[in-house]
Amino acid sequence: MSNKIEMKNPIAELDGDEMTRILWALIKEKLIHPWVNLKTEYYDLGLENRDATNDEVTAESARAIQRLGVGVKCATITSNAARKKEYNLEVLHPSPNVTIRAMLDGTVFRKPITVSSIKPTVSTWKKPIVIGRHAYGDVYKAVEMRIPGPGKVELVYTSAGGSEERITVAEMKDSGIVQAMHNLDDSIKNFARACFLYALDEKLPVWFAAKDTILKTYDGRFVEIFDDIYKGEFREKFSEAGLDYFYTLIDDAVARVVKGEGGFLWACKNYDGDVMSDMVASAAGSLAMMTSVLVSPSGVFEYEAAHGTVQQHYYRWKKGEKTSTNPTALIFAWTGALAKRGDLDGTPELVYFAKRLENAVLSAIEDGEMTRDLLSLKDHVGQRDPQGQRDQNGLSSPAPQAALDSWEFLDAVQRRMMDQ
Ligand code: NAP
Ligand code: MG
Repeated sequence: MSNKIEMKNPIAELDGDEMTRILWALIKEKLIHPWVNLKTEYYDLGLENRDATNDEVTAESARAIQRLGVGVKCATITSNAARKKEYNLEVLHPSPNVTIRAMLDGTVFRKPITVSSIKPTVSTWKKPIVIGRHAYGDVYKAVEMRIPGPGKVELVYTSAGGSEERITVAEMKDSGIVQAMHNLDDSIKNFARACFLYALDEKLPVWFAAKDTILKTYDGRFVEIFDDIYKGEFREKFSEAGLDYFYTLIDDAVARVVKGEGGFLWACKNYDGDVMSDMVASAAGSLAMMTSVLVSPSGVFEYEAAHGTVQQHYYRWKKGEKTSTNPTALIFAWTGALAKRGDLDGTPELVYFAKRLENAVLSAIEDGEMTRDLLSLKDHVGQRDPQGQRDQNGLSSPAPQAALDSWEFLDAVQRRMMDQ
């Protein structure tokens, strides 16, 4: 094709491992290269190359995302003892996601991709719920102690200058347990900024919830910081965009979420985010329909799929099987990054291309051309409605549709891109 879309600036491209690495190359070949003169700075984060570069490639890729403002990442293996043996590794390096998140000081947002034919378990949900999880402190950095018998437990702060402040945690009458946890003002501020920035980008209102009626100092500080950052840095931009910020107690938030329509960004404290993101992901459908965006407080964006490398499918692919691995979240990682690049560079044709590609994916699925993971979800919906399984003569409906393999699915999407 002669009139391909030109990109002004490159995206940092982070390749990965196993089945997602196979799909990565296919997505570029079938769905991007025919329409876009793709400009990327390529970093190979496949496990072999991370090992060969002593993990330097991961740090380099994080610096590239920082410099270019936009990154797209494939799923990568987090090495452990089994992988050390499998890949004959010298040492175990930390998870690339942990390294990149730390270098960008970012917050991760998870957003389900919704398709009308696949109904969320919560019937009132019409729009996606995006979860932003604070990734520092609280119970994940807590210290704890078993108390063997009667005695006094105290919390002591010794300032850098040597002065002391202490409060009694409990006068223990007998044995028991105790824990202490902390957070940092700067980390909470960066979390709040990342939430408001991403919400503006996605045109979503922000909810934040905590338990400041009980934890007046601890959760109270979160509420105060969110309020200050919103009023000081975002209120005007939000009101221009017709959006708002809403604080409520965590129990009230949970009650509203399951009765509501969705369509907001839910900023969660670390533990709440851990629990609620799994609830939202499972209620919304499938791991293969969940995108993940890392946003740094300086406004740098990295897009990826929420799932891993789909290891078991990869082993089957190596034996020659064309697996039915769902590439949707990986495609949406690419469209997210391309649209962001287009936004920043002032190239609306790139933004439009990304939207068109997303629509092609959704329309394929809506037309019933889908991978096995989604077909089984669709069947679940059918099973809840036994009427739907029989035609008017009481005969059972035709044999269930066949799932497409990944190659057929990508072709189905490509056909829609060609037709549009
Ligand atoms: P996974 O790759 O997410 O896969 C778990 C299971 O979920 C799969 O076996 C498959 O179920 C289903 N699944 C996930 N993605 C799918 C897709 N696109 N299409 C169809 N089914 C999909 O998690 P894992 O097996 O625990 O981890 C594998 C590797 O990925 C590990 O080395 C881990 O370290 C890494 N990982 C990386 C990231 C990341 O880079 N962001 C995140 C998580 C895990 P069925 O087998 O039932 O079909
Ligand atoms: Mg969890």
